[in-house]
This record gives sequence, C-alpha cells and structure tokens, in this order.
Amino acid sequence: MSGRLEGKITIITGGTSGIGAATAEVFATEGAKVIIAGRSEAKGADLAKQLGANVIYQHADVTREEDIKALVDLAVKKFGRLDCMFNNAGGPDRGTIDTVTMEDFDYSMRLLLGSVVLGIKYAAAVMKPQGSGCIINNSSIAAHRTGQGGYLYSAAKAGVVHLTKVAGTQLGPFNIRVNSIAPGAIATPIFWGGSQKANTLSAEDNQRKMDKLMRSLANATPLPRAGLDKDIAHAALFLASDEGSFINCHDLVVDGGRTSLFYEKPPQK
Ligand code: NAD
Repeated sequence: MSGRLEGKITIITGGTSGIGAATAEVFATEGAKVIIAGRSEAKGADLAKQLGANVIYQHADVTREEDIKALVDLAVKKFGRLDCMFNNAGGPDRGTIDTVTMEDFDYSMRLLLGSVVLGIKYAAAVMKPQGSGCIINNSSIAAHRTGQGGYLYSAAKAGVVHLTKVAGTQLGPFNIRVNSIAPGAIATPIFWGGSQKANTLSAEDNQRKMDKLMRSLANATPLPRAGLDKDIAHAALFLASDEGSFINCHDLVVDGGRTSLFYEKPPQK
C-alpha cells in the first residue's frame, strides 16, 4: 500500500534526527507534505533537500512558544491547513533526586512536557475550525516503568501520556484525535546525549556509538534486535493514516516487548 498520507499536511518537531527524521522520510514517501522543525539550520536544510520536494525545514526551538506558533502559522500560510502534528522533539533531562534544582525542573518540564502542551495548543487552534486533525505525542516507556529514563524525564513523559488522554477527550468532539507513542529502547543519538551532542562528533564516532548501542539494545528486549527509528515512524504512519481513524487517547507502546520483562531490584548502595 502506498499514498497512505496523500496530500496530508504534517509537522514533525525534532525532525532532523532519529525518530523525527525517519518519520519525515516515511510520511513524505506516503504522500504527505512535511514541515520538519529543528534547531540545526544546516542539517535541517540538507535533510529536507535529501527527502525531496514534499519536505521543508523550519527553525523551531520547542521550548519557545513563538517558535511553535510560527511553525503552525507556516503550515497554514503555505498549505492552508494542518492534518497531523507530531510533537516529537525531546532530549535528556537535567538533575537527579540528589542534585535537582528548580532550574533543572523548569528546563526538563519545558522541553519534555511544555513543548507538547504548546504543540497541542497551536495545532488545535487550526484543527478545530477545520473539523479534523491528528496529534501524536512522543512519550516513552519511561512513563510506564521505572529505570527506563532519567528522574524528571520519566515524570514528564508520564505527564505526556495523561495529557494525551485529557486532550483527546476534549478535542475528540471536533474530530481531532490525540494519541501518543511510547518508544522503548530505539537506537538514536538520544542515548549519547541527543542530536546536539552528536553534531559535535565525527561521523565515524557517531557510527561507533550507534554500533555499540545496537548490540546492547538487542540484549535488552525479548526480540533479538534493537528498536529502530523506522519502527516508531511506522507506528506514527498508522496513527496518522485513515486506518487509525478510530484511535484516540491511546498510548501505543512500541518496545519489542521490553516493558513485559521482569526487572530485578537494582543493587542497593
Ligand atoms: P534524537 O536525539 O535523535 O532526536 C531528538 C530530536 O529533538 C533532535 O532533532 C533534537 O535536536 C530535537 N530537540 C531536542 N531539544 C529540542 C528543542 N528544544 N527544540 C527543538 N528540537 C529539539 O532522539 P530520538 O530518540 O529520536 O528522540 C525523539 C523523541 O523520542 C524524544 O521525545 C524522546 O524523548 C522520545 N523517545 C525516544 C526513545 C528512544 O529509545 N530513542 C525512547 C522513548 C522516547
């Protein structure tokens, strides 16, 4: 099957790396017009060029409300509508139980939960009068299990899952579906500090880190391989397509079965 998103106007935040970049490729291949948003101008422009005429890049830092508004404004100005908003951008949190400061809290919540709050706000403003739309938020298995991400990261992602449900109930009557995807152990640069850190390393160093990560993640799921960015892109495609049209308020776990594993209590100091 192809053309599953034919003519749909989509925005993907954090679209220059990992899951966001893979989703841009899959969405464009399926006929969507895609605005990828990110902070690395050169990388974004290169990727858009590589993915073809259906993909354009726009600078957006998701911690800035004006950037998210401008992103949605661009979709409307250029294409007249917005069919799918993928609130995907994210990165490592800051602070631990012992060291956390209110600055760490503000930073982490703004990046991981605030960006989703704003993405929903501005997407809904366009989708409500349109009478249709699909919003997908990137959560995490860290929302469901402990030990799968940082302290504040896990709390913020749990917030994303519940925010998704509340927004889906409020926007459902406008024919807007709000769902999240909870990836588990997907091999991307987030495991070595996020894409900004990856941008400072050579291609060889990034590849070495990726190869090592793929081996360790393959040992961490019941399935005999690491999760790939494309695995999440395909889940997003399903939710954004007409085949997902009765799915709302759902958190779709895509983790190769990782959350079903039994974890021993970590060793105590
Ligand atoms: P990644 O580092 O490859 O991609 C994250 C993207 O978000 C990058 O393009 C980064 O530049 C962007 N980003 C970060 N902060 C931003 C900001 N302030 N403004 C705009 N863009 C910003 O990592 P990924 O694994 O592809 O992560 C994508 C999403 O998936 C994140 O929300 C992450 O929390 C979530 N996730 C990933 C995994 C995993 O195993 N990789 C698991 C669970 C959840």
